[in-house]
Amino acid sequence: MPIENIHPIKIATPFAVGEVYCYLINEEKKVLVDCGQKAENSYELVKKQLKSQGLVIADLDEIWLSHGHPDHFGQAARLADESGADVYGHVKERSNFANYENRELFDEFFSKHMVPKDHRSFMIEQLDWLQQYQQAITPSWIEDGEELTSGELTFSVKHSPGHAPGHLTFFSKEGIIFGGDNLLEHISTNALINFDPDTGERNSSLLQYRETLQWIRTLEGVVHPGHGKFIRNISKVADHHLSEHRKRYQKIQSILKEQPYSLYELSLRLFPDAVKKGGIFLVLSEVIGYLDWGVEEGVIRQEGEMFFSEQDSIKN
Ligand SMILES: [Zn+2]
Ligand SMILES: [Zn+2]
Repeated sequence: MPIENIHPIKIATPFAVGEVYCYLINEEKKVLVDCGQKAENSYELVKKQLKSQGLVIADLDEIWLSHGHPDHFGQAARLADESGADVYGHVKERSNFANYENRELFDEFFSKHMVPKDHRSFMIEQLDWLQQYQQAITPSWIEDGEELTSGELTFSVKHSPGHAPGHLTFFSKEGIIFGGDNLLEHISTNALINFDPDTGERNSSLLQYRETLQWIRTLEGVVHPGHGKFIRNISKVADHHLSEHRKRYQKIQSILKEQPYSLYELSLRLFPDAVKKGGIFLVLSEVIGYLDWGVEEGVIRQEGEMFFSEQDSIKN
């Protein structure tokens, strides 16, 4: 099996997540799967890994992008410019690849949900800060069900949204799975607030992500993740995340039985420390996910910015 031709490249990032893993497939065709943020350290690390294989950046033939977050795609444009490599990604990720051109959708969403102005400006500042680590790119679009190859290896491309609207998973019949941020062992992946670039509608990202996990759990092989260790017990890790979701979902349902909440107030009640530490965007993403789920199942109702339980309240 040609699996020895796959080399992880570990890149330190300035983001809370820590290190990101990209992968070099050193087959007849030289491929990078994800490539690190736009920064000198990640450029040098890619160069160094290539060199250890007797390669230089000009040898790269293709770059496959799992999704448009800076640690995964930020320096793709630079590497593609220098090598002439073809870059592939999913079209639903185009706002992210184009440097968050839909930021006004975020602000509209936050104000509709009565998130205070200072938090809103803070989140927009966070988005702006990320810009320095990514260079806009328009990849060649690749669809769910298509294939990418490198030498003997053929990878199926799966559109697997949730963490990002156009997240892709690449998996081969030999059981090599490039999972991006879809399945991580040590942290639960955030189904981040995001918008469909075609309609401008907000995606129900947690519900999408749960479908992605349900699909991933059926795969056999080894997940080569964007962060953390290789995952061999795929269904176990996926099931763990799915059951953690369900626990939180039930907790939120019982809190709403006490009284209605806005997204913002509920976020503060559930995760006050994370909000204080600057994690407001992650927290709002997390909480709206469960509210979407409840609305979808008919156990939560939204009126204006307030969310109500549709179940019988606990009677004294
Ligand atoms: Zn990501
Ligand atoms: Zn990531």
